[in-house]
Formats: sequence, structure tokens, C-alpha cells
Amino acid sequence: MTAEGARPNSNPLGFLADEIAELKRQNLYRPMRVLSSPQAAEVVVDGAELISLSSNNYLGLATHPKLKEAAIATTRDFGAGSGAVRTIAGNMTIHERLETELADFKHVEAVLTFQSGFTANTGVIPVVAGENDLIVSDALNHASIIDGMRMSKAPRVVFPHKDTAALRELLREARSKGRADAGGRPYRLILVVTDGVFSMDGDIAPLPEIVAAAEEFGAAVMVDDAHASGVLGRNGRGTVDHFDLHGRVHIQVGTLSKAIGVLGGYVAGSQALRDMLIQRARPFLFSTSHPPAVAAACLAAIQVLRDEPELIDRLWANTTYFKGELRRLGFDTGASETPITPVMMGDSAMAGRFSQRLFEEGVFAQAVVYPTVPLDRARIRTIVTAEHSTEQLDLCLAAFSKVGRELGLIGA
Ligand code: PMP
Repeated sequence: MTAEGARPNSNPLGFLADEIAELKRQNLYRPMRVLSSPQAAEVVVDGAELISLSSNNYLGLATHPKLKEAAIATTRDFGAGSGAVRTIAGNMTIHERLETELADFKHVEAVLTFQSGFTANTGVIPVVAGENDLIVSDALNHASIIDGMRMSKAPRVVFPHKDTAALRELLREARSKGRADAGGRPYRLILVVTDGVFSMDGDIAPLPEIVAAAEEFGAAVMVDDAHASGVLGRNGRGTVDHFDLHGRVHIQVGTLSKAIGVLGGYVAGSQALRDMLIQRARPFLFSTSHPPAVAAACLAAIQVLRDEPELIDRLWANTTYFKGELRRLGFDTGASETPITPVMMGDSAMAGRFSQRLFEEGVFAQAVVYPTVPLDRARIRTIVTAEHSTEQLDLCLAAFSKVGRELGLIGA
């Protein structure tokens, strides 16, 4: 028996296929490419050999011999999985060692690792900010920060991207007016949250100005260094080190999944912050810990950052060269200041076509379209790595030049 009016044989999820058809019609449907090689400067994607400009493997650590060795040896000794969440039975020596090492590397009291950068953000924000608090967030912050804010009971306000004058104004008002819902009682905490490097534009947060504004109004600062970890600062210590702001940023989130080459995220800050996250952070409490191999490979990666700073030098030399040449060819690379170099395309159809033509020319560079970026700001998002040779970058530039002329994006 079915309820009156319901069609007995209809598919209750039929709307999904309709929505997919609509996305395809608007050129907004993104099929996944399949990689059948290791993640490296040259990859095999959907059976084709290509030069990749699409990974976050900034330093080539995903295939670094020391990381692979650490993962293999630790798997032999400790097995493939951890078997439990950290707070029950899945807290192994290797997890603790990684955190001690990361805290030392970042010059903070304590670190707690999470299963990913995404869960680090969704874990930490609701723990530190609740209904008596206010979160102040940059307009272009990452989806995981947005989800973390959604999971928090704290109200939030958004300031225009990198607009520190607007931020100061918001902080001034929040401090002078207090909580609208509680007769103007002061907020317990005002938390300013920003990406360190913005993942779609490759620009760097004005952290010194943000910290100065926060200090003026007694707010705390949280920075998400997903794309700055291993990229900015001495030995890749991140934006706090880059701007010499040690001790003045209260929460640093980092990822172990990009330049560090493996998987995971972490929150770096005070011992009290770590202790409280262990009690309350939901992804930490309710999801199994990393396999020992993951923690061991991350630990090896931190050692590589300390021992082989020349990898970061190569990353930046490649970045400067590639970005400069793209601009010289006439491409609009937006506000980028880091190895993330967007090449602006306008609409999503153009971005999709451009990416497909690059693919045919032997270059793997993915289009980023709405809703990740605004409808008219579709782009090809490129990331060079330390592993790319100048010859490989030149082949990519030649392909960009050819396709750019062909599609009328740059002059003939
Ligand atoms: N924050 C930012 C700014 C990111 O770009 C990303 C990854 N896209 C994350 C967090 C999530 O990191 P992970 O891949 O480790 O989950």
C-alpha cells in the first residue's frame, strides 16, 4: 500500500537525474578524471600522459622516498589500520610523536591532528565559539571554515575579502554594542577567521593587519594555513612564520594533505586548546584515527621540510617563472601571489573548453567553475610544484599560448 497520491513505481530520488541533466546543460557538471600513475609532475590521466598543473603536491612529497619508506616500515610493524578512535583505543605512539614534532616545528605549545584539514576546521570552530561568542570571517574563506561556522552556535559576520578597514569597523561595533540577543552583554570571545592563502585565487591574507585589528579590540585570530603549510614561512612553517607573528595568532589550522604530501589536518595552539579539542571536537571524537603509516609518513615529511629547504626554493623559483610567463603571454592571473595561479577565463563554458583543449595538448589543468567561484570568474587553476622542470613548464606555457590564441583569450 502506498499513501494516497504517491505513484507506487516512481523513483523517489528521480530528481537527482533531472538535476544532473540541468547541470550538464549549463556546462556545470564535472566528471572525475582518473589518475593511473603516482601523483607527480607527469601523470597518466584517463589513459593519457600529461604534465600536471592540478595537484596540491607542492613539494613532490607524495612520492618522496623517505615518506614512502616510513609508511612501508610502519605498516610492517604496526599494521594497516588503527582500529579505533583516538579516545577509545586508537591513540598510538606514532600519533603522539607526530603532534609533539609538529608543535615543535610550528613553535606552539601543542598540536592535535585530525583526519583531514576539512575536519580540523569543522572540529575546532564549534569547540571554541559558542552562543556567547561572535565569529568574524573573510568572505572568501574555505568551505570547511564555512561548515565549521555553521556547526557552531555562534553568530557570524562576514567582512569583504581582505578588507581590514571593514574588519576593524566590525570589531569596533561588536565591542561597543555587545550581544544584540542579550541586552548588549559583551561577547565572551570574538574570533576572526581567515584563510592564510586563499585556495582559489592564491592571494595571501593580510595577517599583520588582521592581528593588529584583533589585538586592538581584544579578539582572537584563527588562520587556516592549508595552502601555506610547506609553502610559506621558514621551512614551510606557514603564514605566522612568514609574517613573524609567533605568539599572536591563537589558532593555526594546517593540512597534511597538500605540501606535506600525505593526509590529515591539525590544530596548533595552546595546551588548553588541545586538551579541550580532545574532549569536544566531534570529528576527532567520533571518527577513527589515521592508519599508522599516515602518521609516520607525515612525521617523515616534517623532517624533509627541515632537511631539504631547497625544495621550497625550487617551488618558488618555478612559481615566479611560470606566473611571469603567463602574464607576459597576456593571461589574467588575478591576485595570485603564491604557487596557486588562476588563469581567468570568464564563463564556465570557456573554462571547460580551455581545460579540454589543454588536455589534448598534453597538459592537465582543471577548470574551476561556479559554485566554487562566481559564475563570471571561472578559471583554470594551476599549481606548479618543486618537481616541474623548466622544460615541462615551457611545454605547458606553449600549450596555454596555443589554446589561448585559438579561443581568442589572448591576442594573436
Ligand atoms: N582549508 C583550505 C583553505 C583548503 O584549501 C582545503 C583543501 N581544499 C582544506 C582546508 C581541507 O584540507 P584537506 O584536504 O586536508 O581536508
